[in-house]
Amino acid sequence: AKEAGRNRCCFYRMEMSETANVRRALEDALHRALERNEFVLHYQPRVNLTTMQCTGMEALIRWNHPELGQIPPLQFIPIAEECGLIDAIGLWVLQEACSQTQRLINRLGIPLRVSVNISARQLTSVDLVKQVQQVLDETGLPGDLLELELTESMLIEDMAASAAILSALKVLGVKLAVDDFGTGYCGLAYLQRFPLDGLKLDRSFVTENAKDKQTLNVIKAFIDLAHALDLSVVAEGVETHEVQEILRNFCCDEGQGYLFAKPLPCHELEGMLASFSHI
Ligand code: C2E
Ligand code: CA
Ligand code: CA
Ligand code: CA
Repeated sequence: AKEAGRNRCCFYRMEMSETANVRRALEDALHRALERNEFVLHYQPRVNLTTMQCTGMEALIRWNHPELGQIPPLQFIPIAEECGLIDAIGLWVLQEACSQTQRLINRLGIPLRVSVNISARQLTSVDLVKQVQQVLDETGLPGDLLELELTESMLIEDMAASAAILSALKVLGVKLAVDDFGTGYCGLAYLQRFPLDGLKLDRSFVTENAKDKQTLNVIKAFIDLAHALDLSVVAEGVETHEVQEILRNFCCDEGQGYLFAKPLPCHELEGMLASFSHI
């Protein structure tokens, strides 16, 4: 039995170093991914639940590794954050999202708002306000057609500093939303201290529990409270007509999810928007 225990221990250690190797390899590859043009943005439409029109889309990064194939953001964004690469990747995402959106708007002749995910580091280690201003200048995208998605945890890290950055971003006209709402931290009272425009109800919350009576009550309460604070609400992860109907009855403003569309390459989104005035 002792023998087996020792073997198990060795095996465990081998797995650990294996994981470390994979991580190191990913980090090396990440360093080259930007210059090798391996990143691409996909766009997932947001839909007004009353009019069923597409109001805009969320930009979601994809990494096409030449050998490993597509690596999901949840696997490489945390690594990019730890090693500091998120500064450069985040700037690339902003530039690409704004320029592709401005081009879409010009070609389709309809206003579309693009949402960009911002990671905690971008709020503390780079001059986000200056970056946003520069990108809007360069691409010609009107400030109010850019929305930044932030998480509660990064806002409460240093409330005074975050509030100052958010206020400066509001001067540029950009929209500010809290991502993954309902999973977390401070709740709506704290959020009142920030100049926010909206919140996104977390997907886990919307998809998994939407039939549970109590969860439904909580979702309804969140939406009412958000509206009382003048915040608009987007529900993430809408996968069924049933959930869509519930959210619409709760006066949720917009929905996003596989029911409407998966995240799509830009040209596919353009094709979809060109052939329907609504989706
Ligand atoms: P998120 O911001 O919460 O993005 C929503 C995620 O839910 C996306 O996963 C999207 O593909 C997925 N999703 C959308 N609708 C449905 C649905 O109906 N059902 C299900 N099961 N899933 C749905 P994705 O693209 O894998 O992104 C994962 C996370 O990676 C994002 O979560 C975000 O936190 C991060 N991320 C993605 N792109 C960026 C980026 O450009 N910058 C930063 N900092 N983070 C990013
Ligand atoms: Ca998001
Ligand atoms: Ca989210
Ligand atoms: Ca999420």
